[in-house]
Amino acid sequence: MKNHTKTAAIILAAGKGTRMQSRTPKQYLTLENKPVLFYSLETFSKLDIIDEIILVVSKGEAEYCREQIIESYGIEKVKAVTEGGAERYLSVWKGIKQVSADVDYVMIHDSARPLITPETIKEAYKVLVNKGACVVGVPVKDTIKQVDEELTVTETLPRNTLWAAQTPQCFRKDEITFAYNNMYKAIEEAKKNGNEVCITDDAMIVEAYGNVAVCMVPGEYTNIKITTPEDIELVYGEFAKLYLKYM
Ligand code: C5P
Repeated sequence: MKNHTKTAAIILAAGKGTRMQSRTPKQYLTLENKPVLFYSLETFSKLDIIDEIILVVSKGEAEYCREQIIESYGIEKVKAVTEGGAERYLSVWKGIKQVSADVDYVMIHDSARPLITPETIKEAYKVLVNKGACVVGVPVKDTIKQVDEELTVTETLPRNTLWAAQTPQCFRKDEITFAYNNMYKAIEEAKKNGNEVCITDDAMIVEAYGNVAVCMVPGEYTNIKITTPEDIELVYGEFAKLYLKYM
């Protein structure tokens, strides 16, 4: 019997980042002379609640990450650097498969969100242990409208019920494994009927195919995901403020 629960952080860095219009994938752009990917690795690695880290990268990038990021900056707890898949949820699954057998919880984080704070991770961890599944997010500030192909508004969604999902997205390992297995079965079924299953995040898999309700954990608006070129400016501005607070 082990005497404490174990948690793995799965850091996703296998995206192409085509919306950035940059030759360098966004996780390798530099922020204060260090690659964007460094920051989430460092933040998770320094937390006592994290026992191991799985880094998921694109094909051919594992050696670079191991030598130039993990070894060069002395990042601890990295158990594996593994190759991702064509879609985010496939990268997540490849990461889960590398997690040690005795790990109870996984926290999945986008490397493109370098400004995640230890406080938010610790808050998410509390909810995770209590409820079994949660996702960090923030209430949306704008009114969200649904439109059709002609961009005609079809519905104005009630703003007080809407949250923007960020990461980390956190699950008991057995719950997310169960949900993924169910989802793969559903994909097979859909294929047979000529249909498609569209997945945009991990929480959605647990919501649709899992056994546990997913809770929202209030996070920070500064936990920006670098997606398009203007996000870099935003991250730089917020980084300067965080730098003064933590470094
Ligand atoms: O593409 P998007 O901005 O949603 O990516 C979010 C995160 O997921 C990024 O950190 C990216 O590196 C990762 N990702 C991945 N594998 C993919 C697609 C995205 O690891 N196939």
